[in-house]
Amino acid sequence: MALLSIAGLTVRYGAVEAVKGVDLQVERGELVALLGANGAGKSSTLNAIVGLADTAAGKVLLHDADITGQPTETLVRRGITLAPEGRRVFAGLTVAKNLRIGAYCRAGDLAESYARVFELFPILKDRRNQLAGTLSGGQQQMLAIGRALMIEPEILLLDEPSLGLAPQIVDTIFELIARLRKGGITILLVEQNVAMALDIVDRGYVMAGGRIVAAGSAEDLKSSNIVEEAYLGAH
Ligand code: ATP
Repeated sequence: MALLSIAGLTVRYGAVEAVKGVDLQVERGELVALLGANGAGKSSTLNAIVGLADTAAGKVLLHDADITGQPTETLVRRGITLAPEGRRVFAGLTVAKNLRIGAYCRAGDLAESYARVFELFPILKDRRNQLAGTLSGGQQQMLAIGRALMIEPEILLLDEPSLGLAPQIVDTIFELIARLRKGGITILLVEQNVAMALDIVDRGYVMAGGRIVAAGSAEDLKSSNIVEEAYLGAH
């Protein structure tokens, strides 16, 4: 049984059908990429999974339980969370408060969660009393991921974590994603940076025009030109 399974997922914005019957599965412990050019429908897919975009048709299953269209807060409690595109940290709040917000629907002692995030991202510990808006782009991305980790998710959805970051910082972020996966978190990663994503993931899906146009192991996708075609076809 897949940890996350989506079937026939369709997302519409008025007359625009952004996601057209997408099927996708992520097994427990896997790191899976969802690749595709701008506008392919990747963010809409992630947003629909976590209830941030309306699902016009199809189903989202978590451990075989139907979670389609459930409120984001319910999904967070069930262990599924999204680190959104563009990071969206609360610039006027400290690093520590941003992390606290990540755990808003969790009761009890958060000390272990803070410790875990600070172990992964020591720079966030050093800067925990600093306003998030004063962090560099890479540090804000770490904070966005750290904030999502505060609920100790079973599955983490990452939307373009490399967006707008300098190459060296992108390397660091990808190393961290690989480490998270080794630590046992299941990850669905949306990325434009195909080569780097395929270096760390187990499998990938390629989207174009709202549909899945290819799927396979990282090795298969690397050795075929389907990813390239999907990107070129979008222009
Ligand atoms: P990007 O990498 O640019 O985020 P993407 O693959 O994530 O691309 P989406 O952001 O899901 O693609 O967009 C898919 C399509 O849906 C695009 O045509 C986009 O313009 C449209 N779209 C996305 N969000 C909305 C919205 N809130 N209202 C109307 N159309 C939207």
